[in-house]
Amino acid sequence: MTAADPRHAAAARGAIALQRCAECGAALYPAREACARCQSDRLEWLVTPDLPGTVLARTVLRHSYEPRFRADLPLALALVRLDAGPVAVCFLAPGRAPGDPVRVTARLDAAAHPVLDAA
Ligand SMILES: [Zn+2]
Repeated sequence: MTAADPRHAAAARGAIALQRCAECGAALYPAREACARCQSDRLEWLVTPDLPGTVLARTVLRHSYEPRFRADLPLALALVRLDAGPVAVCFLAPGRAPGDPVRVTARLDAAAHPVLDAA
């Protein structure tokens, strides 16, 4: 992923970019070269402040070999089913549990990598 990647550029502005097929409308996550449903390469980006979803599963990260995560441990992580269809791995806000509706946003972390937050 580079600074020219739409996901990176959106996260730098506090927005989230979700790839969508211009042929059949399927939402794609993670990003792909062709649509997983119809194989079209006519893909576009939906850029929005946030996306609605539902927490599917939650876990707590207590150890990490990634130095950039250590200061924030323990970290709650979740699988979130976006209303648009795909499932995404997100950092989860305190007090959220499986079944809860959430809003998913994107930001750049301390290492300038786009990450998703669910709150
Ligand atoms: Zn498609």
